[in-house]
Amino acid sequence: FTKASFKEFENIPNHDMLQSANAFKEFTDYMSENDHMNFRFITEGCGPIVQVKTSFMKNSRECISLVSNDYLNFTQHPKVKQAAIEGIMKYGTGAGASPLIGGHHEYHVQLEDHLSHFFNKPKGSSIVFTTGYTANSATLQALLKEEDCAIVDMEVHASVYEGLNNTNTKRFPHNSMIHLERALVDAQNKFRTKLVIIDGVYSQNGDIAKMDEIYELCEKYGAYLMVDDAHGIGVLGENGRGCIEIFNLLDKVHIISGTLSKALGHIGGFIVSSPEIINYLRYQARQQVFSSTSSPAANGLIKAIALIDEEPHWRTKLAENITYFKNGLLAMNLNIGTTQSAIIPVKIGDPHKTAQVARMLLESGVYANCIVYPGVSKKDARIRTSLMATHTKDHLDHVLNVFEHIAKKIDLTKTR
Ligand code: PMP
Repeated sequence: FTKASFKEFENIPNHDMLQSANAFKEFTDYMSENDHMNFRFITEGCGPIVQVKTSFMKNSRECISLVSNDYLNFTQHPKVKQAAIEGIMKYGTGAGASPLIGGHHEYHVQLEDHLSHFFNKPKGSSIVFTTGYTANSATLQALLKEEDCAIVDMEVHASVYEGLNNTNTKRFPHNSMIHLERALVDAQNKFRTKLVIIDGVYSQNGDIAKMDEIYELCEKYGAYLMVDDAHGIGVLGENGRGCIEIFNLLDKVHIISGTLSKALGHIGGFIVSSPEIINYLRYQARQQVFSSTSSPAANGLIKAIALIDEEPHWRTKLAENITYFKNGLLAMNLNIGTTQSAIIPVKIGDPHKTAQVARMLLESGVYANCIVYPGVSKKDARIRTSLMATHTKDHLDHVLNVFEHIAKKIDLTKTR
């Protein structure tokens, strides 16, 4: 293997699965031994400070974590933990079956009712899935067939693409209204259902969809709109209802998809839509039929949802942290792209340099993700940081100091 290129193990002619896996093992070994980024970390804890272990470190070390989507740090909130424990004590540790055949429990019903209420919708407007990933993939597989068409922003999450196997797909360049309109015109008389699918916050750049313009175009051309607001719900909008609240579209968006694993601090996903769509998904989404769902610890989520209203100061603190950290990075002339959220990339460009920076950060007690191809395009490697409400000013100052120190050794500003 030469310098880290995925092409060297991808699609090797005549390699069966075992040979491909062997080649891949050689590749990852090469990556570790040659001091490139080893992708596997073991983390202990979930919060602003964690213990991290990886192959090039003898012992685990304490780091400031910039890798978590636990934006409000509700995984550690005493009231959320207490409610999760109570759920387990009352109902046990598992759901025992898939939702349609005995695994839909009282705590699921309560959770769904709380989600409907949270989005100001009638009872029956929400359905819970085991993950945000399956909420997207199973819902889209159930709703869209070969007579239909999904029109997706190119940067939507992988779970959306996973759901589009049975249908027609048109992809438009990220947030480009001209291209979206072209796709809508093209699809207009050809397909039964036209569903435009966007993320609220895009997970690599941290920027937000132009949702108002997108909704207008959907209206104009008779398309439905689905928004995956995994990174916005609980965090953005005056009341934490996410990007859709920012654009005042909570009554308009046809399908809202979200996760329970980020701001809400647990695991799971959900869809909010009309009661008829939700009823259809209960029978038709394969995950509802063939896969068990969340454990009674999901009881903690009911408290977490309530805390979005009861303790808005977490959102305020996160917003303050974002402003402070972004200003610090910009003062060093680093390229943070177009972020408008808690996801703040430091764009470096060259993947090897980016891996080197990630390693230097780690050695200075800062744990941040090194994102290279295929996570992003080949010349767009970056350090991806995400902030939490419980990062202190001292934590952020330490990270900024480390970036400043690295920038003195490696020119981070010229490699965009
Ligand atoms: N949508 C987006 C935009 C995401 O970033 C993610 C998680 N990375 C998901 C969906 C999947 O959510 P979960 O982790 O709950 O499966």
